Amino acid sequence: MQKGTIGVTTENIFPVIKKFLYSDHEIFLRELVSNAIDATQKLKTLSSFGEFKGELGDMSVHVTLDKDAGTLTVSDNGIGMTAEDIDKYINQIAFSGAEEFLKKYKDTANAIIGHFGLGFYSAFMVAKKVVIRSLSYKEGAKAVEWECDGSPEFTMQEIEKANRGTDIILYIDEENKNYLEQSEIDALLKKYCRFLPVPVIFGKEQEWKDGKYIDTDRDRIVNSTEPLWLKKPADLKDEDYLKFYHDLYPGQDDPLFWIHLNVDFPFTLTGILYFPKIKNNIEVTKNRIQLYCNQVYVTDSVEGVVPEFMMLLQGVIDSPDIPLNVSRSYLQSDSAVKKISGYITKKVASRLEEIFKNDRNDFEAKWDDIKIFIEYGMLTDQKFCDSAMKFTLFKDVDDKHFTLDEYRTLIETQQTDKEGTIIYLYATDKTAQYNYISTAQNRGYSVLLMDGQLDSHFIGLLEQKIEKSHFVRVDADILDNLIRKDDKKNVELTTLQRNTLSTLFQSQLPTVDGANFIVSFEALTEKDNPVLITQNEFMRRMKEMAAMQPGMNFYGELPDSYNLIVNTEQPLIKRIINASDDALTAIVEPLHNEIETKNEEITKLRDSKEESDKTKTLELEKEVGVLREKMSKEISEYAATQPLVKQLIDLALLGNGLLKGAQLSDFIRRSVELL
Ligand code: ADP
Repeated sequence: MQKGTIGVTTENIFPVIKKFLYSDHEIFLRELVSNAIDATQKLKTLSSFGEFKGELGDMSVHVTLDKDAGTLTVSDNGIGMTAEDIDKYINQIAFSGAEEFLKKYKDTANAIIGHFGLGFYSAFMVAKKVVIRSLSYKEGAKAVEWECDGSPEFTMQEIEKANRGTDIILYIDEENKNYLEQSEIDALLKKYCRFLPVPVIFGKEQEWKDGKYIDTDRDRIVNSTEPLWLKKPADLKDEDYLKFYHDLYPGQDDPLFWIHLNVDFPFTLTGILYFPKIKNNIEVTKNRIQLYCNQVYVTDSVEGVVPEFMMLLQGVIDSPDIPLNVSRSYLQSDSAVKKISGYITKKVASRLEEIFKNDRNDFEAKWDDIKIFIEYGMLTDQKFCDSAMKFTLFKDVDDKHFTLDEYRTLIETQQTDKEGTIIYLYATDKTAQYNYISTAQNRGYSVLLMDGQLDSHFIGLLEQKIEKSHFVRVDADILDNLIRKDDKKNVELTTLQRNTLSTLFQSQLPTVDGANFIVSFEALTEKDNPVLITQNEFMRRMKEMAAMQPGMNFYGELPDSYNLIVNTEQPLIKRIINASDDALTAIVEPLHNEIETKNEEITKLRDSKEESDKTKTLELEKEVGVLREKMSKEISEYAATQPLVKQLIDLALLGNGLLKGAQLSDFIRRSVELL
């Protein structure tokens, strides 16, 4: 028997391995099964080159539990190891800068396993003793047993072993007894070994007999050795992709599209990405893209490997070129990873474009579901945005779809204002904004529907991307102000009339929580509504965007500000103007004139530095205040006798969904009385 010390310069590497190197104990199984698969593949390769002439036989890898002995064994029929091999590959850990490495990674130590050839040693995370029994494929090789209890000392001796290949036997330690449970190992194999290229056998197939499940004598294979992503797309049908999807993510709706990735150069990557139907955010965080390295499952945190917006996708990516077991920050700065991420973006964009070109109807039908993905991508990824400008769609309020170019052509002539800006009108709620939509459509304008979660951000992006464009919600102002042309009619009111009417309407406005109203006048057409309520585009958008940010900012806390626009051309409004002229002029005009005179005096005194003048100004200002109040009181009292004013305001509020509760029932009662 040979005794020796494992060739690592560090005194005792195992406690370090246990404590620092692996935060995830469970990956030991992945490492051991991967080694077994590698050994199997190597022998197959040797055989195919004629360097191994013997029978390959059954090449499955076996995982077995022996609860009584407290062992877990991974066995293969691969190349096996001679005593020299073990010395070289196991004893002299391929680990040149061991000490330096350990020092460096002590604290952030979740790092680098495979890179330093430490896979096998991960067994010591869960085992108090590890035994290797191996017979090399080489002619005349002698079987060998290696044993180590987690100290740097090992023993090695010749043994009798009939079959070629290697058994790795783990004597599971106290703290890790759970790895002696069938269900636990089952779960780990399902997670890490599901698509390994060689059959992995664990236990027996079961059968329902006499009221319970019993083992048959058929081996149970836990993996599928030819995962779909490695097959040729040409050989696959839609059903195959759908079935694979449902195997990966049980209980999900069918995906909308999928993309089969396949590159050899400048890196190797295969995979299938699915566009899921996103119903809620929980599904997004749960059913994520899985990352594989040569069919070995690595992780489902793909941050850094795929661009952020693609986290909404599902499926698998398999690449030997993604460095495993390294920290996130390392991943993100890795140039291979950057290339991969860029490639996936390009591929996804071109696939979407292809679907758009080849089957536009299908693309349009699925638009509502993929829109959030595309908008998210355009907002966060410059390159994707540039490609997506070709196929991203607008949908109008009548459910018609247009590309950005098509839509521009459609509205260019009608909706360009006198400054040459193209005005894109949109609605966020077809029912609530019905009134404004139909007014715009009657004028021959087109109205888009922008009701998506990201639309307020997306609109901001489009305004940058589309030259001379401006987006406004249909109820942001009267149409003539939204799309300013030259032929706007002027409001014909005297200052007195303006002041009087303004107070008249202001006095009858209800108090709506969190809302401000400002009265203004416009000479619209006779056919337009008498009173309109609009909401400033800029303020509204700022508020909406603030609402999406955690912790509302300044804009989020401002009240909604509305304009109450009085249409001076409308017959009912004309009637109100005439009636108030008749009833109020005699009382209000003298007050108004007095105010004007006093204001003129104030203006004159303004620049004077005389103390007496300052006192005079203050007095005058006070007097103006009193007069204004008097005037306002007279007008309000009059207004209260004019149900028509209140009625028109309420109708406008009603049209915007702002009339509620007591005010709504008042309105109904008043309407009945008027009728
Ligand atoms: P890595 O697999 O990253 O090289 P490991 O520590 O897991 O590092 O394994 C070290 C070496 O030991 C392997 O490269 C291989 O040569 C040898 N080895 C490990 N397990 C087996 C096995 N089951 N059969 C044959 N050789 C093995």
